[in-house]
Amino acid sequence: MSINIRILGAGQEVGRNAIEIIHDDSSILLDYGAYFNSTVDFPLPPNIKKLKGIICSHGHLDHSAGLPLIYGSSRPPPLYINSMTLDLINLLLYDFIKIAKDKIQFDSSVLNLMNKYITIKDNYSEFYIDNFYIKTLSAGHIPGSWIVLVEVKNKKILYTGDINVYDSFLLKSADIVNEPIDLMICESTYACINHMKREILINELVNRTLEVLENGGNVLIPSFSVGRSQEIACIFEENKLDYPIYMDGMARAASEIMLKHPEFFKNYELLKRAISNLNIINSKKDRKEAMNEPSVIISPAGMLKGGAAIYYVNRIAKDPKSAIFFVGYLSKDTPGREILEKRVIQSEKGIEPVLAQLDWFGISSHADMSGLINYIKRVSPEKLILIHGEYFRMVEMSKLIKEELGIECLIPKNGEEFQI
Ligand SMILES: [Zn+2]
Ligand SMILES: [Zn+2]
Repeated sequence: MSINIRILGAGQEVGRNAIEIIHDDSSILLDYGAYFNSTVDFPLPPNIKKLKGIICSHGHLDHSAGLPLIYGSSRPPPLYINSMTLDLINLLLYDFIKIAKDKIQFDSSVLNLMNKYITIKDNYSEFYIDNFYIKTLSAGHIPGSWIVLVEVKNKKILYTGDINVYDSFLLKSADIVNEPIDLMICESTYACINHMKREILINELVNRTLEVLENGGNVLIPSFSVGRSQEIACIFEENKLDYPIYMDGMARAASEIMLKHPEFFKNYELLKRAISNLNIINSKKDRKEAMNEPSVIISPAGMLKGGAAIYYVNRIAKDPKSAIFFVGYLSKDTPGREILEKRVIQSEKGIEPVLAQLDWFGISSHADMSGLINYIKRVSPEKLILIHGEYFRMVEMSKLIKEELGIECLIPKNGEEFQI
């Protein structure tokens, strides 16, 4: 019997990952995310009757926000997840349901149902789901993130989830897999884009931040709640920035969760020190105070799609002494990308120019092009599927992989199915 792979989401797009692996009458699902912008788009539905288990690679919503659809249905399968990711998805999904309530068909009560089907697995676990033999490795992307190796009927499938192939302050780089792989399903967020060297970027971020602070301004760092916000706090802690650093929004709760799971970190002591030296914002009064002195404010959402960062953006944008420094991936059609590219902001008065300094420091938790190519080369799979990327860049990347590595490379659409 053959093994079929169905791409339910993240085909030719960034986000809403969902991969179904089917063998005989059973199947497993790797992630079940959502794309959340002005609409909420879920992946295609899996065949629930065959589904024996779901593995969630990490806490980001584009890998987890569709799970309530499955756990709200009758007789859902077990959800395999580590303790960090479980705590993070409970936090992020609760917030997502609150914000997206008019666009989705479920409420937060589904989280209680989902929590009844949890099977906790650590990193480096090996276990069976029906005939599927699973190994979990560390992806280096955000705390708790997994690479998943699936073996079924002597075929090995490697799913990267989202990976980072460089060490960060928080995490070690993605684990290397030293087994022959038949099919690799790889993220390609930064297909054809290379990051500047981390050390150079960090130096530049710290120096530019200091310049603004010494000039009496505020620096807003819109940042993802999970991972990036804490990484930025660690960067400033390591560089002993002698100015107050504030943290707002959901990054605060995500930080609390991380402090409960020391085993997931490369340098837990640094994380602990960085978080304990932050000024946590708990009220409107705190927000005003944070803006009344030269300070750094770390606040979600990273792409400015909402969250506490909006409060600061509207104020900082008008101040030429201040700065907004982006530090993560900015999807097309997000307010963050629009502000950075067009230097305008949508306010109550209409479209206004941004007077503050703007810049982007790609201190990413995703592998860049050369990192991805090196990683693929080391795994050296028989066949490669690229997902979770912008289509035209993926096409360029696939050409290079075919030419230079001689690996067959596919860029499937959602709904496409393959046999191996
Ligand atoms: Zn992702
Ligand atoms: Zn991610």
